[in-house]
Amino acid sequence: MIPFATIASLAGEQGLTALACIPMPGRLDGTGLDLMLADGVGDLDWLAEHRDFRLDPGRFQGWATRLVCTAMPYQPEAGDGDLRRGRYAAGKDYHLILRKKLAMVARRLEEVTGQPQRQRACADSAPLNERTLARLAGLGWIGRNALLISPDAGSYRLLGFLFLAADLELRSGPHGADRCGRCTRCVDACPTAALVDGRVLTTRCISYLTIEHQGVIPRELAVRFQGWWFGCDVCQEVCPWNRFAGPAADPRLTGRESDEALLAVTADSFDLVFAGRAVRRLSWAQYRRNLLVAGFSLGRRDWVERIRHDDLPLVRAQAAELALDRPDGPCPPCA
Ligand code: SF4
Ligand code: SF4
Repeated sequence: MIPFATIASLAGEQGLTALACIPMPGRLDGTGLDLMLADGVGDLDWLAEHRDFRLDPGRFQGWATRLVCTAMPYQPEAGDGDLRRGRYAAGKDYHLILRKKLAMVARRLEEVTGQPQRQRACADSAPLNERTLARLAGLGWIGRNALLISPDAGSYRLLGFLFLAADLELRSGPHGADRCGRCTRCVDACPTAALVDGRVLTTRCISYLTIEHQGVIPRELAVRFQGWWFGCDVCQEVCPWNRFAGPAADPRLTGRESDEALLAVTADSFDLVFAGRAVRRLSWAQYRRNLLVAGFSLGRRDWVERIRHDDLPLVRAQAAELALDRPDGPCPPCA
């Protein structure tokens, strides 16, 4: 049997220090997923298509005998300026970085053991209930903000998984027990009242609306955006456990940009400016829609005027939804 210390050491070489190794779990409880689907998932309708795979990780990779789970810290500091972006998107796209690190752990395991290792590395790249698996592995509990939290590292962490067929010693983390207690800070602070009964109402969540949603953002929600243009961290910013968040595990996960730099991006420079970053998941039209809504929510008439005349159907439709042509003021905070 390969000692857990061996893979922990190899993971440590990649900056992956929170680690657990569990046997392939049986079928997971689908109550949370089914409630989420019943609430409505907007443009994430593929979640329903992959329901069975999500609930049965053993079926997803039938050859695997071990699941190595890791949680990698990202930049815990907020960005500059009034336009706000999810911290996880500060630097380069974590999906590639984390998957490469996990694949490297598997390759090093081959070198150390002298045995070929069949492996599959996943980081938000496969139909897995990642937070549930990480909780099962003892890397944290799932808080009222629906995120994985560790008492010694908070929630600013990215989850990664390595399926292996190796005879690897099992080791769970110590942090699976719920420590939210009576706290409701995240529920109270959520700008759009998207946290209900320990789950996120997808179509009210700013993270969903700014990243996955393809259409117009309802005015009733847009007025509450507080300047968020890609993701939202409010339910993490208020979480007391994030006072224990450490620095990013990889310098490529860090970065900042000014408000003016974001507003100055053009259709021609968009691909180049955001190359290799999670922000590139947006289309150019979504990007401008998001800046329009973020500026609107901050009462920045000057920013709104720079965007609302874009020759983009999505932006024109969003401007109409926000009633920007009305003479009684384009933005609620400055009306
Ligand atoms: S990410 Fe923002 S909008 Fe979504 S649940 Fe958290 S605080 Fe609410
Ligand atoms: S803010 Fe409070 S209730 Fe919300 S996840 Fe953190 S500890 Fe739990």
